Amino acid sequence: MSTIIQKLREYLDKAEAEQIRQLDQLVAATGLPVYKDPKTGALLWVDVRELRLRFQLSVNRIAKFVEGLSQERLYYTVCKRCGAKYFPPQADCPRCKSSDVEWREVSREGELITWTVINVKPASFAHNKDYVVGIVKMPEGFNITAWVDADPATLRPGAKMRLVVGRRPGENYITYWFRPAP
Ligand SMILES: [Zn+2]
Repeated sequence: MSTIIQKLREYLDKAEAEQIRQLDQLVAATGLPVYKDPKTGALLWVDVRELRLRFQLSVNRIAKFVEGLSQERLYYTVCKRCGAKYFPPQADCPRCKSSDVEWREVSREGELITWTVINVKPASFAHNKDYVVGIVKMPEGFNITAWVDADPATLRPGAKMRLVVGRRPGENYITYWFRPAP
């Protein structure tokens, strides 16, 4: 197991241990795993059973996309029947239902439409500092939603963004993100 996954697991176990301790106290005090959300006042049921999920998704039909990533290239699909372009790629065209698609490489520059800073992170990104997620309009016509490696104070709508495909520090697997174009 790689170190980052191990560290993440330890971090989550620690965070969960505290939640489980609080849950135990709640159940002991009231007999029910129900608490009132301090912000909204809504009653929330907390399941006492733990569920750990690891997803396995078939990527057979988008093998070209995976192959592209391994060469640090990003691919999209064009429907040969109706011409619709898709990113993330679609093996079947949602518009005309054709499965006759062509794979093309995504261009390396786009324009930032909007962005947000994520400070409440999903558990699997909990080890990261606050990060920026942006939506970038690509010349092909579709938008790509991805991390933006930039100080959010420097970002402006319409700013030119460079697409990066490579091993992202922190996870060390190949993915894609944006940084301001030089
Ligand atoms: Zn189509």
